[in-house]
Amino acid sequence: MRNIKAFTREERAKALKELGLPAFREKQIFAWICRGAKSWDECTDLSKDLRRQLAERFSWDNAAAELVQTSSDGTRKFLLRMPDGERVEAVFMAYEYGNSLCISTQVGCNMGCSFCASTIGGRIRSLESWEMLEEVVVCVRESGEPINHIVLMGMGEPFDNYEAVAGFLRTVHDPQGLGLSYRNITLSTCGLVPGIRRFGEEFPQVNLAISLHASNQQAREKLMPVAKAYPLPELMRACRDHAEKTGRRVTFEFALIEGQNDTPHTAKELADLLRGMLCHVNLIPLNPVTETGMTGSSRKAAAHFRDMLESMGIPATVRRQLGADIDAACGQLRKKVTS
Ligand code: SAH
Repeated sequence: MRNIKAFTREERAKALKELGLPAFREKQIFAWICRGAKSWDECTDLSKDLRRQLAERFSWDNAAAELVQTSSDGTRKFLLRMPDGERVEAVFMAYEYGNSLCISTQVGCNMGCSFCASTIGGRIRSLESWEMLEEVVVCVRESGEPINHIVLMGMGEPFDNYEAVAGFLRTVHDPQGLGLSYRNITLSTCGLVPGIRRFGEEFPQVNLAISLHASNQQAREKLMPVAKAYPLPELMRACRDHAEKTGRRVTFEFALIEGQNDTPHTAKELADLLRGMLCHVNLIPLNPVTETGMTGSSRKAAAHFRDMLESMGIPATVRRQLGADIDAACGQLRKKVTS
């Protein structure tokens, strides 16, 4: 039996029409999916008979919040179990300007970045669009809080799962569902250039973040295998084109590793790399991941690095670190059961 949530809206409308149901039924069902209803029985604007009839044809599969951990700073990490038993993590963060939810796009990750917990053990599978939507609706339901921003910065590489991610973006943007503005969504990629180019065409309003972490090809290759497939000059060209085409600032994420990429030399090289581009650098002291053996720079060193960039005309901020005490910070999400 096919899960009713796994259809696109068009497919669902078609399937319901074949059963002789009017078009507004799809709207009602879609609204219940977005509200986080857990079963056909919760769809109370469908008659009991209709619910029974639909339940015979389509299953109503859910993601379940298996564990919710709350950090001392209020950040909440959700361990979500998909119907097939695979698990992903999503992180809820409260900022002055609204609530953000960081969601995963894959179970595990194939990109192999040397500093990141999500890639240990590789990619188990990609998530489907509806599973990403479940991350959002389950977190909203369980936290009782609205979500104002979504960031695709959890486990997985979004452009290694382009189609499903695109479907998810359209669904959360759908005015009949969550109606989230594209401008309130940020997607982060490790630098898959074809994905960046396609994304610029199809989703010019969604914010793009690039995990850069190094200021030259040699250093980047050491940290991120993806740099071999898509070398830095090619990546930078795609980013410049993106900023020009969309008129929107590209964010560069830069995790500072003590004594490695937090030096004045790196700051200068990075400034040269980014000069003249509509961009912003998000600095973050590398978060600890036991297996990597790397140490993050101090907040003080990070502030100094930011000052160096700013003095060379590159806008930069040091990101607040949220959720580190529950392993919910950047690069700490993994597919284990508890952390
Ligand atoms: N695969 C995408 C989406 C993941 S986003 C990407 O690479 O952009 C998660 C962000 O956290 C990325 O910028 C990633 O490089 C960063 N990150 C990974 N490990 C980290 C760590 N130990 N400390 C700080 N940031 C880390």
